[in-house]
Amino acid sequence: MAFNETFLEELRARNDITEVIGGYVNLKRAGRLYKGLCPFHGEKTPSFTVYPDTQSFYCFGCSAGGDVVSFIRKIENLDYVEAVKLLADRSGMVMPDSGYDDSMLKTRNRVYEMNKEAAHFYFSQLIDEKNRHALQYYFNRGYTFDTIKHFGLGYAPDSWDALKKYMNEKHYSNEELYKANLLRKSSKGTFYDNFRNRVITPIIDIRGRVVGFGGRVLDDSKPKYINTSDTLVYKKTNQLFAMNFAKNHAEKGFILCEGYMDVIALHQAGFENAIATCGTAITPEMARTVSKYTDTVILSQDADEAGRKAVNKSIEIFSQVGIKVRVLNIKGAKDPDEFIQKFGADRFKALIEGAETDTEYKLFLAKQKYDTDTSAGLADYVTEAAKILAEADNVKRDIYASKLAEETKVAKSAILSESRRFQKQNEKKKIKQTNRQVMSMQNDADKINPQKRQYKSAAIAEERIIAVLINHPDLIRTISANISEEDFVTVFNKHIFKALCEHINQGKSLNMSAFGEELTPEEHGVLAGLEARGRTLTNPKMECLESITTLKEEKLKLIKPDLENMSDEEFRNLFSNN
Ligand SMILES: [Zn+2]
Repeated sequence: MAFNETFLEELRARNDITEVIGGYVNLKRAGRLYKGLCPFHGEKTPSFTVYPDTQSFYCFGCSAGGDVVSFIRKIENLDYVEAVKLLADRSGMVMPDSGYDDSMLKTRNRVYEMNKEAAHFYFSQLIDEKNRHALQYYFNRGYTFDTIKHFGLGYAPDSWDALKKYMNEKHYSNEELYKANLLRKSSKGTFYDNFRNRVITPIIDIRGRVVGFGGRVLDDSKPKYINTSDTLVYKKTNQLFAMNFAKNHAEKGFILCEGYMDVIALHQAGFENAIATCGTAITPEMARTVSKYTDTVILSQDADEAGRKAVNKSIEIFSQVGIKVRVLNIKGAKDPDEFIQKFGADRFKALIEGAETDTEYKLFLAKQKYDTDTSAGLADYVTEAAKILAEADNVKRDIYASKLAEETKVAKSAILSESRRFQKQNEKKKIKQTNRQVMSMQNDADKINPQKRQYKSAAIAEERIIAVLINHPDLIRTISANISEEDFVTVFNKHIFKALCEHINQGKSLNMSAFGEELTPEEHGVLAGLEARGRTLTNPKMECLESITTLKEEKLKLIKPDLENMSDEEFRNLFSNN
């Protein structure tokens, strides 16, 4: 089932690929194309390319590619219809009434509705007179009623089926509620409420939809927190709590807290740029989301061993997307919530202003590891410090090398030269890493066409023929005079070649969108890669004829043709190439 051609054409015309991708990636013009850092793999030099003329994109690093729809599918993690819907909404178009399979879209929307309804229920329970102990809990934490309403906080009563009954009355089935993780299922197959006797924080996505819930006990029982597990609309590794509010206050960067209780306390105290992960460490996906709004993040994590490790990991992940990290040094309180209660918002503001840069933080940690009163300890400290400085930018390196020289009485030049040694090592390591990354991604691309491993020469020849055909549809006569789909060895390439020929013969315009939902985003990527590579051919006709010869030779090796029973023409055709 597909959308009609006119609708899709208008959709593409109204959603220029450069504009759409420009909303996610910082693109720079390079002649007729645009380049930027790939949003699908970590890189420091741009290999992600957008081609306005064919309305396509391709990453030479990880082989992601396709048209505007496949870009949206990949980056928003949507299926084909949902991606089309997003683009239609974006450009003010109305989706056609029928002709496509939107069951996934409907199921997802149903989960959003259920979550919204459940949030209403939990809130109504919180202000119910029989649950006044729950409201008391929030007031004891210092939350005002305005804050409670702002975040839509609630309470799940101490019952196995309070939510279930309420939702059943609203005509949501137990199976549906189970899929939304609002209910659980016992081993006997009976359903019961997931959240019981817990205060509830709805998790709301950037577009303002309730995607899940976090529930906390009111006393010290365990587990302290439970969260919605992954559902159709919620992936905990992607979700940042309070981004729906914080995205409008990103000028000073985001404050990344450990939990949503901290975030709520900070927002109430006027720090509306506070966000938190939902019970996971920071992930590259989250870092990319953050990088759309700001280039600074202030980390507020516990000062224990686990907290420090988390900080180091976060610094690494954020730096990969170009975000500067600073670290809060909270003293005299266990977390921002307690700090503000004890010392007030102004002191917290001062704390933020004095937050350490990532380099300062790492140097501080390094120093604590060694006994700098002994020569050996001092030497180890300086070596480790030089290693840390190797990762900093030139200005920072110079500033901290001076400070370090003063502090340790080691010559600044010695510190800098030691640091340079580490810089060189790092560069070598990075090249190796990138190579490894690209290799593994190419292996992924090979998974799309698994026969490529077995029939390498044939597959490469096929790819080159396809590359020429996409870029030079006018060569179709020459190509079809010499080869047909039957000559193709690998199934994937055969399918692509056949579809391309059909498109061209029907006089349709050829671009990445030609295949629409026929291809998965990964398959689109392979095709976009062939298109991108085909652009640089200097003599496409000759290249193509050569590849045809190669392919025929390869094919010959595979099938031992029945020469005896072949017609003369078929026989000549085996070797011909005019
Ligand atoms: Zn990439």
